[in-house]
Amino acid sequence: MIELAVIGGGPAGLIAAREAARAGASVIVFEEHMEIGEPERCAGLLSLSGLKRLGFSVSGKYLQNVIRGAVIKTSNGRWRILDAGRPVAAVVSRSIFDKEAAKQAEHAGAEIVCGVRVKAVKRDGGEFRITASDSIRQSLWVIDAEGAGAALLRRFIGAGTEPRKWIPIIQLIVENHGLDKRFVYIYLKDYLPDLFAYLIPIDESLGKLGVASRSPDLKKLLIRFLGEEFPDVLCLNSSSHVIYTGSPLDSTILFPSRLVPVGDAAGHVKATTGGGVIMGGLIAARIASAIAASLKGGSPERPLAEARKLIKELRRMAYLRRLIGRMNSPLLEILIAIATSKIGNSYLSRKGDMDFQISSILGSRF
Ligand SMILES: Cc1cc2nc3c(=O)[nH]c(=O)nc-3n(C[C@H](O)[C@H](O)[C@H](O)COP(=O)(O)OP(=O)(O)OC[C@H]3O[C@@H](n4cnc5c(N)ncnc54)[C@H](O)[C@@H]3O)c2cc1C
Repeated sequence: MIELAVIGGGPAGLIAAREAARAGASVIVFEEHMEIGEPERCAGLLSLSGLKRLGFSVSGKYLQNVIRGAVIKTSNGRWRILDAGRPVAAVVSRSIFDKEAAKQAEHAGAEIVCGVRVKAVKRDGGEFRITASDSIRQSLWVIDAEGAGAALLRRFIGAGTEPRKWIPIIQLIVENHGLDKRFVYIYLKDYLPDLFAYLIPIDESLGKLGVASRSPDLKKLLIRFLGEEFPDVLCLNSSSHVIYTGSPLDSTILFPSRLVPVGDAAGHVKATTGGGVIMGGLIAARIASAIAASLKGGSPERPLAEARKLIKELRRMAYLRRLIGRMNSPLLEILIAIATSKIGNSYLSRKGDMDFQISSILGSRF
């Protein structure tokens, strides 16, 4: 009998596995792909503070570039700059980052099995019966970290994240972008109302370029964007996936059921940007600590309270995203102009936090 089964070997599942194993629980992680971190479908823009909070080095082998700010091209063609004046974020290779997370989880004692898909989870008395592609296992707790789609979770609890808030996205690895590698580039386009397009430099030439839209013509929109902004780049690689811009599930409510969703499966993503690695990882770590405490007969309340606070922060970002979505272009232009003004830049560089966007702006410490 396993104490904790984790479905999904992405960052949320692996960080949860690491925390539970460190606290003494017996943990197994099921990953359907043959290799952790593959296929890579992420821009890998992670705050340096978030990496530290998650217990990852800011100079690990996964590091590709260091970022100090963002350049925003608004829909009327104006360029605005947010410059922290110091390094604030890392661009990482998600493939190598996830492998490092797996190494940490294994080092803590977790078992990771790759190439094994969990097909069904059923409650069987006081435990769970997990039907995987290679075997049937029993476990006392389950963490569902299966990522976007979360088919098992929907089958199990009959609910999930907001379906319309998952935006299809195509990401390209491009060569010859010709931009300053110290900044990320955000493009607001009237024909891309669901999310901004981006270019995240890996170096002076290579970059990750993403275009997201619910339109069935996403490929055409990508070609239009490339023609307008990057006519000279060479495309080396392309991947398609979805990115979440909705409200998070409150996993702590599901804690008593002993099957708890984390990461993208629970919509633990910053709805303002679609970034889910840091906040998803922080919440997953708290949920895992709460499970480990329960297994030892202790109180899970403290880590659960911390998880609740993190989820509240995400909920407020989802609210901000909805507000932004309702703004007309002129109003958005004004807000961006204020944020990128001298005073705005100075305030954000002192107080801003990429992950705790709302509490840092409101000045409430997390
Ligand atoms: C194009 C793109 C760019 C992004 N850029 C950023 C960014 O710059 N910064 C950022 O923070 N976030 C970014 N994100 C979001 C980020 O990738 C996700 O939030 C993050 O990967 C979520 O981690 P996770 O562990 O919850 O899910 P995932 O990383 O999706 O991992 C889930 C894992 O579960 C496995 N799995 C699923 N079902 C089963 C099953 N039944 N049995 C066994 N295994 C299963 C999958 O194979 C997968 O490996 C981006 C996303 C996309 C699509």
